[in-house]
Amino acid sequence: MVSSVRNGNLFVVSGPSGAGKGTLVARLVQEVPDVWVSISVTTREPREGEVDGVHYLFVSDEEFQRLVDDDGLLEWATYDGNRYGTPRKGAEEHIARGDQVVLEIDVQGGFQVRERFPSAHLVFIEPPSLEELEARLRGRGTESDEAVAARLAAAKVELSRKMEYDIRLVNDDLEEAVAALTAYVNEQAEKTRG
Ligand code: 5GP
Repeated sequence: MVSSVRNGNLFVVSGPSGAGKGTLVARLVQEVPDVWVSISVTTREPREGEVDGVHYLFVSDEEFQRLVDDDGLLEWATYDGNRYGTPRKGAEEHIARGDQVVLEIDVQGGFQVRERFPSAHLVFIEPPSLEELEARLRGRGTESDEAVAARLAAAKVELSRKMEYDIRLVNDDLEEAVAALTAYVNEQAEKTRG
């Protein structure tokens, strides 16, 4: 007999800025009812259109430091001069409640999560090519030339570590990538049913 609930699990989704993680995760939420996506805290300035409490919790350096000191973050990292972190409480509560908790974070954060939660599943989203990644970053129009250059440099470092992730998905065809991510999350979650 199949029981009606599956246990909570932790998923990390990483990959270069511009690889399409956000779009994929937004689609995952529509496809899998028990997925819960963590909202990170960051010291970065909001981009146009970003809403505090929706895209990120935008905080000052002092507020971020307080969270670090109080052990309020599950992981955190510095990316292009700004700090980003995962609030511990929400993620832990949702795992305990049986949700499939998704963290959209960089590779430095991904490896910290693996250290602390060896059962976490690490998914790496790859762009079809570096040229395509650069075109997407520039086309987005939200970043200065300096920020695009910093993100491309970070992308090369992130790509060099992709083999350490549990699974790699190339975001070439969006529908195929959504289907692959959905299948992976469901497959891992089903193993914990019962
Ligand atoms: P962006 O400035 O483009 O929103 O994010 C820059 C990078 O920081 C992306 O790779 C994004 O996934 C990552 N990031 C966002 N939130 C977190 C977080 O809470 N922790 C870590 N380690 N990285 C994060």
